[in-house]
Amino acid sequence: MTETASEARPTSAAESKDLVETLKAEIVRKLTYSLGKNPSVAQPHDWVTAVILAVRDHVVDVWQRSTHESYQTGRKRVYYLSLEFLIGRSLADALNNLGLTGPVAQAMADLGVDLGAIETIEPDAALGNGGLGRLAACYLEAMASTGVPALGYGIRYDHGLFKQRIDGGRQVEVPEDWLSFRNPWEFERRESAYQIGFGGSVVATEKPGEVTWNPEEAVFAVAYDTPIVGWRGRDATTLRLWRARAMHPLSLDAFNQGDLVGAVAERNRAEAISKVLYPNDSTPAGQELRLRQEFFFTSASLQDLVRRHYRQFGKFDNLPDKVAIQLNDTHPALAVAEMMRLLIDERGLSWEDAWTITSGTISYTNHTLLPEALETWPVALMERLLPRHMQIIFGINARFLDGVRRSAGGEGVDLASISLIDESHGRRVRMAHLAFVGSHTVNGVSALHSRLMQETVFAPLHAVFPDRITNVTNGITPRRWLFSANHGLTKLLTEVCGNGLTDDIEQIDRLAAHADDPGMQERLIAIRRDNKLKLAKVIRQETGVVVDPAALFDVQIKRIHEYKRQLLNILETIALYDAIRSEPYRDWAPRVKIFAGKAASNYGTAKAIINLINDVATVVNNDITTRDRLKVVFIPNYNVSAAEIIIPAADVSEQISTAGLEASGTGNMKFALNGALTIGTMDGANIEISERVGLDNIVIFGMSAAEVEAAKRNPRPTGEVIATTPHLEGVLDAVAGGAYSPGDRNRYAGLVDGLRANDWFMVLNDFESYRLAQRRIDGLWANQPEWWRMSIANTAHCGWFSADRAIREYAQRIWRVPAGFAAKG
Ligand SMILES: *Cc1c(COP(=O)(O)O)cnc(C)c1O
Repeated sequence: MTETASEARPTSAAESKDLVETLKAEIVRKLTYSLGKNPSVAQPHDWVTAVILAVRDHVVDVWQRSTHESYQTGRKRVYYLSLEFLIGRSLADALNNLGLTGPVAQAMADLGVDLGAIETIEPDAALGNGGLGRLAACYLEAMASTGVPALGYGIRYDHGLFKQRIDGGRQVEVPEDWLSFRNPWEFERRESAYQIGFGGSVVATEKPGEVTWNPEEAVFAVAYDTPIVGWRGRDATTLRLWRARAMHPLSLDAFNQGDLVGAVAERNRAEAISKVLYPNDSTPAGQELRLRQEFFFTSASLQDLVRRHYRQFGKFDNLPDKVAIQLNDTHPALAVAEMMRLLIDERGLSWEDAWTITSGTISYTNHTLLPEALETWPVALMERLLPRHMQIIFGINARFLDGVRRSAGGEGVDLASISLIDESHGRRVRMAHLAFVGSHTVNGVSALHSRLMQETVFAPLHAVFPDRITNVTNGITPRRWLFSANHGLTKLLTEVCGNGLTDDIEQIDRLAAHADDPGMQERLIAIRRDNKLKLAKVIRQETGVVVDPAALFDVQIKRIHEYKRQLLNILETIALYDAIRSEPYRDWAPRVKIFAGKAASNYGTAKAIINLINDVATVVNNDITTRDRLKVVFIPNYNVSAAEIIIPAADVSEQISTAGLEASGTGNMKFALNGALTIGTMDGANIEISERVGLDNIVIFGMSAAEVEAAKRNPRPTGEVIATTPHLEGVLDAVAGGAYSPGDRNRYAGLVDGLRANDWFMVLNDFESYRLAQRRIDGLWANQPEWWRMSIANTAHCGWFSADRAIREYAQRIWRVPAGFAAKG
């Protein structure tokens, strides 16, 4: 470990010696008195827990100060509601932000423990599937770093995203168990528990127009708080996760009658709500439990923030001035109805006042335009599970449609397209419409995505509310994805750009002046080589495959999905393999094709793609003709910790989604900031990356979003596409015929038949363009000074993709809350 943040701490030798001594004492105290272990018998796990508990105390000091300050000054607070937080490990991040990385490593070394060697014992908290959940985690850290008072609300799942094992080339899902050794970062708040109701009926009270909801069933939501410390330990935000507990954990009657299962039935049903994260990032699970999860955490969060606000201010009319609620996708869209219910039914406000407050407080981030991923729930299910909310949604819809009908030009509006209820598929509630109508601002996550929102899925609503949709392009925290993950590069950058870089990442553009400097290039080559050696070691451990760090590392790591087109990548890999074998004496640049990613457990095609990648790897890696030129590896169990090792070692970043389908991507930003060259389509944030680094410094291929749209409306016969695309027929025939699955020749017949039937994701249509782009990469790699000039341009021009910039945009334009810390530190 290196000291990337040591300047935040005392500098004199005596002071740092004192600090190390203090830390040693603190760690030993935790070990002794919190864990009850003597240092002489402590196991690595005990040491990590003791370090975390000691570091947590430092975080808590910051946390209590900043919570107190924002309370005292009555500052507006942001509440970020997200069904997912893909946190990963927290220790290195916290140490780095507190400037304690070096001192704690030293303290541990003095105690005879190598911190670097045991850090990996901390579980990787995977309470999310992919980009959406990781975004929420980056934003909580960035809000702490920019001084935006904030609380993140989510669910404390007992089991996060499944662990992936590869067995015989196939994905096997293993339950994840991050809490099995308790979670030393969190504080359980038994006193902060709210009742969450389900089912039952709505009855009129004596007062005209007033109703009461009598739920049939209720569970407790219990809060667990984790402080998230920001850069230089100036501020901290809170991650508050809810756990479901039964109101009556045991039925003594049933127990005494010998009915042991019945005795805990209520408990099991209640606690199922926070039991597991749905392993799915694109289609609603379509299950009642998912809807219960969504309402559970939304209701608990709103009850909590409404109570906090009333305690502090004693009124609600200023709620929009003091509270900003951000919905991370539609999973918490019930917040619109729940806020109305709390204000009207529980606090006695009129509908009109409640609506002004609700829609003045909530804003919504859309993450996908894929029709199959837009959440809808059957009205019948909603009526049974949340009868009062269904009434309120009908009420919002009636007033909304009525208002539009009566507005100027209202007769021409197609009300069915803007209604919160979809009547065409057996009456369903459109959650995106609910979130849209109930918000003051709606944002997309890249420039292209926000424009497509206006032109496609939300076009009718956009016509009614032309000012509501805005764009905030996603960002990533440079603390985790550069300073923590890539110590070598960070050291070089602070040397070249100055120490101010760590406070203002956009100063990274000073590197650009050195793009052609051979000395600089040599240093970058050495740093990359170190990172690749580290990754090569992991690859060998995880897959048994030996890879050469001198080869080009070509990386595609992300959820496995047809629109992300791992299939395009592996088919082109097969074409390359064939080409090398047919001309074995050409000087092919050695390449390692690196894949990682999980497939949703019910997504057969994605699982077949994983299987194919692994089968191709087996054939290629065992072929002596291509032995030194091509290797294919699939690294199992992709998660945040794996990404932190893989990304700094990448030469090429694969961002090859079908144009128009990747809302933004954030993996693309992590790679470019670390100096990988992107091979990508004009999709999501790739477009903005290309604008910032320049088209000379990125390899773009394939159809544009508009061309994809046109091709979908008027598809070319796939037979014609295949016949006119060099090499494609041969590749498809080989896969379909079992060349890569000799033990099971039919394994990929279905996968290839699917492509031949319908090229929905433009794998066939973009194949040749992609293949040629890969050969352009070969040419660039052969010209190393040119390659590293491009790499430097990428690092130098990607500071803008910092989550700090994104958070400042949200703060100014959407939340209207001042950031505490300016960009220049
Ligand atoms: C950044 C990140 C993602 C998102 O990657 P995309 O390439 O944008 O899909 C997913 N999972 C993990 C673990 C990440 O760190």
